[in-house]
Amino acid sequence: MADLARHRGMRNKLVRLLIDKGIRDKEVLKAIGAVPRHLFIDSSFEEFAYQDKAFPIAAGQTISQPYTVAFQSEKLALKPGQKVLEVGTGSGYQAAVLAQMGIKVYSIERQKELFDATKPLLSKLGYKLYMKYGDGYAGLPNHAPFDGIIVTAGAPEIPKALLEQLKPGGNLVIPVGREVQKMKVVKRKSETDFEVKDYGDFRFVPMLHDRNA
Ligand code: SAH
Repeated sequence: MADLARHRGMRNKLVRLLIDKGIRDKEVLKAIGAVPRHLFIDSSFEEFAYQDKAFPIAAGQTISQPYTVAFQSEKLALKPGQKVLEVGTGSGYQAAVLAQMGIKVYSIERQKELFDATKPLLSKLGYKLYMKYGDGYAGLPNHAPFDGIIVTAGAPEIPKALLEQLKPGGNLVIPVGREVQKMKVVKRKSETDFEVKDYGDFRFVPMLHDRNA
């Protein structure tokens, strides 16, 4: 579990690439420059960990592309100390980037195998966050409301429970669609008023119902 100068060098290059691709948020860039992405994927992919690519992880899922992680993190527009709900913990990389930014992360994963592997990994790497094995369609009503919500799986539509658990002023960042998804940012302007903005096309594994043991 080593993080060497060589890895840090590759991370700095990745950060420069993300700046070229349009990521501007300094806190996001700093976090991507700090989180050892090579420790979140199978060691056979180690040499590719800092390319801007998605990779397979366990249970047929993927670790999101660094650009996607940076884009979604930027769109959340959160400050340190605020609370975020993530649906789709997966490898834990996106959760670690948000935690590295000083955000309080609550993350849900429906694949037992991933949940069981990622929970101890994040804790070993020193990230303190709340993790639940469950179905993200329901959100986390006991910990709501959240300053921001991020969904990292392709949702067929925007789940109502997630809108209800968003604080006024907060953003829900969610890829919506089946084969290809449009990134949507839903801003809760007041208790009753939501504004939706559409961004580009992304590809995620699907957001599925119920837990998978
Ligand atoms: N944020 C992750 C991305 C993993 S891919 C990372 O950085 O690695 C998306 C994840 O969403 C998968 O692990 C998948 O099992 C999970 N997922 C899909 N539908 C879900 C649901 N309804 N609730 C919780 N997790 C879900």
